[in-house]
Amino acid sequence: MKILVLNCGSSSVKYQLINVENQTLVAKGIVSKIGMPGALLTMEVPGKEPVKISGEILDHIVAISNILNILTHEEYGVLKDKSEIVGIGHRVVHGGEYFSDSVLINNEVLKRIRDCIEYAPLHNPHNLKGINACMQILPGVPMVAVFDTAFHQNMPDYAYIYGIPYVLYKRYSIRRYGFHGTSHYYVSRRVRDIQKKDITELNTITCHLGNGCSIAAIKKGKSIDTSMGFTPLEGLLMGTRSGDLDPAVVLQVMAREELTPSEATTMLNKHSGLVGISGTSSDMRDIEEMIDKGDSQAELAFNVFCYRLKKYIGAYAAAMGGLDTIVFTGGIGENSPRTREKSLEGLEFQGIELDIKKNKEAIGMEKEISSENSRVKIFVIPTNEELVIAIDTANLVK
Ligand code: ADP
Repeated sequence: MKILVLNCGSSSVKYQLINVENQTLVAKGIVSKIGMPGALLTMEVPGKEPVKISGEILDHIVAISNILNILTHEEYGVLKDKSEIVGIGHRVVHGGEYFSDSVLINNEVLKRIRDCIEYAPLHNPHNLKGINACMQILPGVPMVAVFDTAFHQNMPDYAYIYGIPYVLYKRYSIRRYGFHGTSHYYVSRRVRDIQKKDITELNTITCHLGNGCSIAAIKKGKSIDTSMGFTPLEGLLMGTRSGDLDPAVVLQVMAREELTPSEATTMLNKHSGLVGISGTSSDMRDIEEMIDKGDSQAELAFNVFCYRLKKYIGAYAAAMGGLDTIVFTGGIGENSPRTREKSLEGLEFQGIELDIKKNKEAIGMEKEISSENSRVKIFVIPTNEELVIAIDTANLVK
C-alpha cells in the first residue's frame, strides 16, 4: 500500500513515497525554487544513485506533475503507474481548534484549512496549493490532512489561554496552539516502543530542535503543554526566531526603530534567535565551529539556547508532576552532543544524568544516552513525521 506524503511550502515541495505495509521508504526528494530560476527536482531511492533534474517549474501543479513523472520514469522510476498511489497525505501546518486528528479531505475540511490561513499566512496557503494541485493531477485519489497543531489540541485551557483579555480569545481565537505535533507524537510513541512500556506509564519531555525548535510535555501519552504558541515564534530560542520575549520589547523596538508590523514580524522571525545574537549564522554547526575558534557572540547565542531549553525541561517536569523520559530530535537534537550536554548540565538533582560517552556517540541515530544511574531515561530519536502522515493516511483511506 503506497502513500505519497507531501509537504508543500511557498517555493518547495518535499515528498516521500512510503510503503505502509512494511513501513519503508520507497523514494523521497524535493522540488526547490518553484517559480524561480534554477528550479530543481531531486529523487533519492535507497541503495541507488540520487537523481537531479533542473528545468523550469512554474508552479505547484508542474512541481507535483514532475514528481509523478519521475516516480514512474522508465529508467529511474519506482512505480509502474501512478495508480499504485492509493492515498496522498498532506502536512498542513495549522488546523486551529477544528482538528485534533488527521482527516480525510473534503470540501468542509478545505474550508476549515482556508479559515486557518489567518493564523498561518506563511504556511496554510501553500499547503492548500498542494492539495488543489493533487485534485487536478490525481483526481479521485483520496487525500488526508495531517496537522502540526492537532496533537496539542488536548492541552488544558490553563495551558493555552494567554493572560490578555479573554474576549480576544472568544473574538479571534487568540490562544496557544503549538506546532511540530506530528514529530512530538512520533518520538513519544517510538520511545514508548523502545522501552516496551504502556504509554499511560510515561511522562515524557520531547525536544524537537531543528531550525524551528519546540519542546512538549507529554503526560501519559497526551501533550499537556508545548513551547510554541499562537504562532511558532514562542518558546525556545531558534535559528532565526526569538522565542519567548517580554511583549513590551516588541512595542519598544517598533517605536524606536519606526518599524511597521510586517517589519517587526520579519525581525522576530528571520533576524533573531541564533543569528540575531551571534550576528553571523542561524546554523548550529556554524555556531559550534565559531565557538571553537573563540567567537564570544557565538558562545553567548549557544548559552542562551541551552539555558532556555534547560528552564523548559525543569518547568515541564513540574507541569507533569514527574518525569520518566527525555527525547532529543530534529537536526540539532539528533546531531549535536554539545547542545544536549550543555542543556542537561546541572539537572542531576532531578534524576537526569547523561552518559557523556554515549552522548558523544549518538549522532543521527536512535540511542539511549542516559547513565546507568539516571532515574530519567534520555534518548536520541531521529524524527519521522512522514511515516506518521503515511500511516494516518493509509488508515483513513482504507
Ligand atoms: P528543519 O527544522 O528545517 O527541518 P533540521 O531539523 O534539519 O531543520 O535542523 C537544522 C538544524 O540542525 C541546523 O541548525 C543545523 O545546524 C543543525 N544540525 C544538523 N547537523 C548538525 C550537526 N552535526 N551538529 C550540530 N548541528 C547540526
